[in-house]
Amino acid sequence: MNDLSRRGGERPLRVTVLGATGSIGLSTLDVVARHPQRYEVFALTGHSRVLDLHGLCLRHRPRYAVVGDARAAADLQGRLREDGLATQVLVGEEGLIEVAGHSDVDVVMAAIVGAAGLRPTLAAVNASKRVLLANKEALVMSGALFMQALRDSSATLLPIDSEHNAIFQCLPGDYSRGLSVVGVRRILLTASGGPFREMPLSELAGVSPAQACAHPNWSMGRKISVDSASMMNKGLELIEACWLFDARPEQVEVVIHPQSVIHSMVDYVDGSVLAQLGNPDMRTPIAHALAWPERVDSGVSPLDLLQIGRLDFQAPDDRRFPCLRLARAAAQAGGTAPAILNAANEIAVEAFLAERIRFTQIADMIEHVLESLPSASVGCLDDVFDADDRARRQARHWLERI
Ligand code: NAD
Ligand code: MG
Repeated sequence: MNDLSRRGGERPLRVTVLGATGSIGLSTLDVVARHPQRYEVFALTGHSRVLDLHGLCLRHRPRYAVVGDARAAADLQGRLREDGLATQVLVGEEGLIEVAGHSDVDVVMAAIVGAAGLRPTLAAVNASKRVLLANKEALVMSGALFMQALRDSSATLLPIDSEHNAIFQCLPGDYSRGLSVVGVRRILLTASGGPFREMPLSELAGVSPAQACAHPNWSMGRKISVDSASMMNKGLELIEACWLFDARPEQVEVVIHPQSVIHSMVDYVDGSVLAQLGNPDMRTPIAHALAWPERVDSGVSPLDLLQIGRLDFQAPDDRRFPCLRLARAAAQAGGTAPAILNAANEIAVEAFLAERIRFTQIADMIEHVLESLPSASVGCLDDVFDADDRARRQARHWLERI
């Protein structure tokens, strides 16, 4: 394991933020900027939001910036030159891979949304970086290969997803010996239930993208907001937890906890249940993973339990959240099934946000794609991308027919 714990007098750790213009990227930069003696920004990437990325470059003065295409790169490079900045602009996936695996980088925040983050995140793992994993889709798609790459490298993987970060904090340091060996009975994965937790089922078909993106507790990117509303997010997180902690799907129980104060729990055989609590602000898990095993200020205000007053729990309803059932089935099927589930979901969410399908059709589309493409075994990354590609085509075909 990469020991990046800091002792006095050392140089700041160099951080690449993949997906810097997004919600997680901005929260990461907020924490990093609070600790200039500990961290400095090495590279920032944004896909299409060149103006946002330009502003971030002015503020953080990275050595590299990466954008999606040559035109955006020329635009950004021109602006940065005018500002007198030496930042070099790189393009596309090659650029992302370069700044993720660069020999001068210590820490990589993997916060690109969706399948687009897989290769750059793997590049960081293969280059033995401290990898802060927000991009859950990468692990869902390629779980076995990803975890093998981790074992073959000396990378350290720290979960940023608040639930997995909480579980990591509640597990003993030697949990990789096996959950049952360290006395874990099950993992309790908490879920807010999203904006539609109490809406009459008959109204779900009529909800708008704006309603789906208005999460009651968290402010996040649009794709994960829709995933939270459908609870596909929890389904992806169930698969993520199985890979990260070597758990079987049956060992992970989803519990709805509307206040989002407990970020997840670990239930031990002696009856102890350990939980991690905090205000719902992603800067807490980000600061935890940046500084681990030390602790640094994240800017998050202290938890006021007296003001919160009560914590509630309920079981998820399969009729309301069919995506959770589909994800659990994909976790159990293994092989390419999670990659197929993820790809179909990406297309479905995109179609819902573009108002081409109803909210309730997200699950219909994914179920159709999973039924049409049986799971196959995964031997290499090409198998994963092939499944991803076939699932996207099948999903688009379904879209054309409805
Ligand atoms: P976001 O939409 O706010 O930001 C996404 C980032 O990815 C942006 O910087 C964008 O430029 C970049 N990007 C998008 N498409 C790209 C492409 N094709 N190639 C390269 N870059 C691309 O998303 P977010 O909410 O910050 O989420 C990022 C990841 O973190 C997701 O995987 C999400 O599931 C995970 N996550 C987010 C939160 C949260 O609170 N926002 C919590 C847990 C996990
Ligand atoms: Mg989460």
